Amino acid sequence: MAHLSDIEIASKAEMKPIEEVAATLGIEKDELDMYGKYKAKLNVNQLKKLENEPDGKLILVTAITPTPAGEGKTTTSVGLADAFTKIGKKAVLAVREPSLGPVFGVKGGAAGGGYAQVVPMEDINLHFTGDFHAIGAANNLLAAMLDNHIHHGNALGIDSRKITWKRVVDMNDRQLRHIVNGLQGRVNGVPREDGYDITVASEIMAVLCLANDITELKDKLRQMIVAYTFEGEPVTAGDLKAEGALTALLKDAIHPNIVQTLEHTPALIHGGPFANIAHGCNSVLATKMGLKYADYVITEGGFGADLGAEKFIDIKCRLADLKPSAVVLVATIRALKMHGGIPKKELGPENVEAVLKGLPNLEKHLENIQDVYGLPVVVAINKFPTDTDAELEAVYKACQERGVDVVLSDVWGKGGEGGVELAEKVAELAEKENNFSFVYDEEDSIEEKLNKIVQKVYGGKGVELTKAARKELTELERLGFGNYPICMAKTQYSFSDDATLVGRPTDFTITIRNLKVSAGAGFIVALTGAVMTMPGLPKVPAAEKIDVDESGVITGLF
Ligand code: ADP
Ligand code: MG
Repeated sequence: MAHLSDIEIASKAEMKPIEEVAATLGIEKDELDMYGKYKAKLNVNQLKKLENEPDGKLILVTAITPTPAGEGKTTTSVGLADAFTKIGKKAVLAVREPSLGPVFGVKGGAAGGGYAQVVPMEDINLHFTGDFHAIGAANNLLAAMLDNHIHHGNALGIDSRKITWKRVVDMNDRQLRHIVNGLQGRVNGVPREDGYDITVASEIMAVLCLANDITELKDKLRQMIVAYTFEGEPVTAGDLKAEGALTALLKDAIHPNIVQTLEHTPALIHGGPFANIAHGCNSVLATKMGLKYADYVITEGGFGADLGAEKFIDIKCRLADLKPSAVVLVATIRALKMHGGIPKKELGPENVEAVLKGLPNLEKHLENIQDVYGLPVVVAINKFPTDTDAELEAVYKACQERGVDVVLSDVWGKGGEGGVELAEKVAELAEKENNFSFVYDEEDSIEEKLNKIVQKVYGGKGVELTKAARKELTELERLGFGNYPICMAKTQYSFSDDATLVGRPTDFTITIRNLKVSAGAGFIVALTGAVMTMPGLPKVPAAEKIDVDESGVITGLF
């Protein structure tokens, strides 16, 4: 059977008016700000009114160490939410908004896949409700105010060689990574080296996603560090008197967006911070609103469980006082084969032996979720059309033999129907008492925190700090950031900092090259290698295949 593309499936969907979808959660029309017929914003001020309502259960979907293609966390999340609806439970999906960079680059959209998608998928993948544009505008207003301050005499004494605030654009555009601007004489600014990041890498994106309300949003924006003075003291957005205007630009972006899945389950799609230099989760406000309206909130953390789940727990849950009830660990045959030592280009043909050889990677993630994070977990084997029965059976059996809860999930092929068993298992696990815990305490020193993450979660020996990182550590402690949680920027392809070490590596150390603070977002970023904050396009970008016909129907999005 030939498979339909994601956009073919999505365009055949019959959407319900968004107020009907919202009504299934008891949301009334006047609580919605309509963006056409199928998209709306849910006013955050509702949260205060719902303060005394009980919270639903928070379910995290994470994955084993992935291949570059992604193992289907978003797809599984969408399908699981639909499966909950199918078994008569009130569920809501709470995931990130896609960025235009990957949509036109290699990865494509981020609205699920197959029969587990959110719609209108072309809107969600393109401009949606304008949140990313608003974040870009706020980011760039701050950049303009900073350079303007220097132009008009630099009363704050900003060292233009120590400006940390970059301009952003929501596009993969390597040409802008390093630029020189302010050229052509006095009236045209002060020349300096500069550069662009992609919008999702803006600290404002992380701030918006971690703010618990509008007051906190403004407060966090005020604390963002944009540069250092000649004396080495931080200069903040507050020093430039920018926080009010930035908050004004974000007045609509702060409200979570509501759309629907192919099966009309409500979906809150809001915010989209990078998963490397930021924490990679949807907004706290969307998650909290979902918990008030639904019995189950299905959410996702970027990358594998070593990064995504760890940051979800140690950053998002810690800063927002959230407590997850259960975890779904997505595993695929292709990723297990990769961990079994098969090169990425040869993951297609059946190879039961390689699949079994890859299992130690899955086991380490399971141990982490159960013993380190203290949460109940079920393995969801995300079935691909190319998987053979023998391969699927082998993983299923191996999990059962180890006493692990495991379910075969086919939400990509069948929608909610393909995830019913998974939803039933998750519902059962979510009732269990758990020992939810963080990996480290706020009071631990920065180095202790780093070592705990590496030893407990990655299974390594500990960290080694470069000379630069050690200097930065001392400085961050002097400035009073020692109690901030850590945001690890590490390769997603290995537990270690070497992308080629697949499976379950041991006896490795993690080199911390730099430590930087995101003072507004509220975490310290630990960089373990070169991190790309402005991606480039591939030789043949997805953009070349995207088109629109005379009636306005879009093709080529995936
Ligand atoms: P993640 O959120 O983990 O990055 P996604 O859910 O976005 O992963 O899936 C990555 C890609 O793989 C998407 O293009 C999606 O359509 C595709 N995909 C996911 N699950 C399946 C499946 N079971 N069969 C075929 N393709 C799938
Ligand atoms: Mg995803």
